[in-house]
Formats: sequence, structure tokens, C-alpha cells
Amino acid sequence: MSKIVMKTPLVEMDGDEMTRILWGMIKEELIEPYIELKTEYYDLGLKNRNDTDDKVTVDSAEATKKYGVAVKCATITPNAARVKEYDLKEMWKSPNGTIRAILDGTVFRAPILVKGIVPYVKNWTKPITIARHAYGDVYKNVEIKVPGKGKAELVFTAEDGSEIRETIHQFDGSGIIQGIHNTDASITSFAHACFKYALDTKQDLWFSTKDTISKKYDHNFKDIFQDLYDNEYKADFEKAGIEYFYTLIDDAVARVIRSEGGFIWACKNYDGDVMSDMVATAYGDLSMMTSVLVSPKGVYEYEAAHGTVQRHYYKHLKGEETSTNSIATIFAWTGALRKRGELDGISELVEYADKMEKACVKTVEDGKMTKSLSLISTCENPVILNSMDFIKAIRNTFDTM
Ligand code: NAP
Ligand code: MG
Repeated sequence: MSKIVMKTPLVEMDGDEMTRILWGMIKEELIEPYIELKTEYYDLGLKNRNDTDDKVTVDSAEATKKYGVAVKCATITPNAARVKEYDLKEMWKSPNGTIRAILDGTVFRAPILVKGIVPYVKNWTKPITIARHAYGDVYKNVEIKVPGKGKAELVFTAEDGSEIRETIHQFDGSGIIQGIHNTDASITSFAHACFKYALDTKQDLWFSTKDTISKKYDHNFKDIFQDLYDNEYKADFEKAGIEYFYTLIDDAVARVIRSEGGFIWACKNYDGDVMSDMVATAYGDLSMMTSVLVSPKGVYEYEAAHGTVQRHYYKHLKGEETSTNSIATIFAWTGALRKRGELDGISELVEYADKMEKACVKTVEDGKMTKSLSLISTCENPVILNSMDFIKAIRNTFDTM
């Protein structure tokens, strides 16, 4: 069988620890036998980030802008322990944060559904994709612990020196105050990414805030989304047969629980933080969550939602057997290859991606899985495989399909 030929290279961002081991296995067993793989390779492993003063991370993001599609392995975000472990020159920033800032992107997270792993919410038969606005609000706040009696004010000073002033509260005793902000530019980017991704995946887009209480702040989010929708996206949404739906955050929560899934839920920063953990947990397992960063200009970076699975890596280093689930990392590759196929008009690449994803799902549904999946599966007698044998089992399924 001849291999599928690619036109444009994928930006390949290699990473750390157990996921770096899986990365190599996935390429060798599941991709290179079928595709004449063309990538521009960037080693985002912590050692190389340190050696290049983190320039490699910036370069990989710039390359993503140039080519349009990237696939990323999980990477270590250094903390004090990592600085010691890897003898780092400094505590380098989170690569995902750096890449997101350069691409000005929004992260969309969705679960991979398989029979036998039943969501806690029984009626969720389709995936719910969460889009979290990753800038501002309480994550860039300024806080004061008020010591006692006094007046708290909100003041904006324009460049010409003029002021807008509001009283926050006249304190009779001690208390707390907090200042938060967002920018129209960031909200607009977020909205573009959400509308684009909805059209891309042909799913309804829900957006929720608390605009009835926050009549200026949250209302501004609602207005920006609505204006963009009316002026730029409405016709395309109607053509695609999908809808944009705005509702209050508390109403959204109730509707989401009653729904069957199958839509994108765009959330403000804090709501997205909380709701993405709730949705991920309810669907079952972090190792079955995919993640894609979409820029407002339509540039895509695919990855798994989980980290580098450090605990398994240390076992691997000691020569012990691991049973790490590679499905979310495989889906990062298939997501990126499918997108490359769509952009370059290579239907074989799209078909390969669809088939490989089905092979992953079928392997688990046939009862062959890694340890963590077996613990949450309703499958009667699952065969628990080690990391490599699980990937080989997927290849076997793929070949017989
Ligand atoms: P993690 O790598 O997601 O792993 C946490 C635990 O979840 C694992 O110990 C394992 O549980 C389970 N798990 C996660 N993925 C799994 C998989 N594919 N198969 C089987 N089990 C899986 O999170 P962490 O240990 O908190 O973080 C490790 C490193 O990853 C950190 O240095 C962090 O900075 C980095 N990180 C990177 C990203 C990213 O690049 N996107 C995201 C998050 C974290 P058991 O040990 O119980 O089996
Ligand atoms: Mg969180």
C-alpha cells in the first residue's frame, strides 16, 4: 500500500516525560507506516527550552502562524522542583501560555466518547466542547484588604487627564475590594475564535454571562458577541444549519445538564475554569480529553488536555511497565492531520484521520484498554494493556478495518 503524501508540513512540537515516549511510539506505529509524514520539528522538551533560552517555543508559535496547523506534545511547566531537577537557567514560563499569547488563541476542549465509559450525566450522548476566554477578569485582578472605615472608589483617568469616578462602597468597618478588567480587543478575538470553530465543526454555539446583574461589564461581552454574529457570521451559521444562542450563566448550567450535548459552550474566564473541570469529570477521564487552540485568524494547534504523566514516566525510567493512555495524544495528531488534509485538499488524509480515531474508539469498545480506562469502564472483562501494546492493538484494529 502506498503512503499518503502531504503538501504542507505540520508544525510538530515535541514535549516531555511519558507523553514524549508515547509521541515516538505513535509516530512509529500509527502514522509513519501510512503517511509520508512532513513536519517542521521543534523540540519543546524542557532541556531544549532551557538550552535555547525558550526561543524554541516562540519559534514554534511563529511557524504555526506561518503554516496554519500544529500538533503539540504535553510539556512541563517549570516550578521550583523542576528548576532543580533540570538545572534550569530560570523558571521558564508555561509553553502553552507563550504560544497562546502569540497566537491570541482560544482553547476548545472536548471529550472523546466511547461505549462502556458512561458519563455521570446519563443524557450526555454527544460531546460538550468548552471554550474558555483565557484573558482577564479575576485572573488579572487587583485587590485591597480594607482595614477599616473609609470610601472605596473606582477611577478611570483618560490620557487627557479627565476622570470617570464611581463610589464602590462607603465602608463602616473592615472589608475587601477587588478591581478587574477586560479589553474589547481580547473579547473580540475570543468571539471570532468561537464563531469560527462552531462553523468549522458544525456545532451550535452557546454563550453565557451574568449580564442582568453586571449591566456594563458582562453586558459588554454579550454585545460584542451579538454584534459580530449579526454583522459577520449570521449568514454562514444559517447556511451551515447551526445556531448561536445566548443565555444567562445560571440558565445555561441548567440547560447543559438537561441537554444531550453536541454543542460548544463559550464561557468567561472564571466560568470556563470551573465548568471545564465539571464537564471533564462528568465525562469520565482526563486522558480522554482533546484540546485545540484556535486563533481568531483561523490558525490551529492540537494537543491532549492532560499533562506529561510524570508518575508513569518515573516508573518507565526504572524499567517498570506503564499503562498510559495515548488516545488523547493520537487525537491531537489526527486532528492536526485532518485539518491539514482539509486545507490542502487531501481527502486521503482526512479519511486516514477519521479511520484512526474510529480505530482508537473500537479498540476500547472491543475491551482492550489501558489501566485507568478499565477502572471506569463497564466492560465485563477488559484486557489491560501496557502503553506500547495498547498502541499496537490500535494499529491492529486499524489494519483490519
Ligand atoms: P498529568 O500529567 O495530567 O497527570 C496527572 C495524573 O492523571 C497522572 O498521574 C495519571 O494518574 C492521570 N493521567 C493523566 N493523563 C493520563 C494518561 N494519558 N493515561 C493514564 N493516566 C493519565 O498532570 P500532572 O501530573 O499534574 O502534571 C505533570 C506535568 O505535566 C507537569 O510538569 C505539568 O506542568 C505538565 N502539564 C502540561 C500540560 C500541557 O502541556 N498541556 C497540561 C497539564 C500539565 P495516575 O498517576 O493515578 O495513574
Ligand atoms: Mg481549573
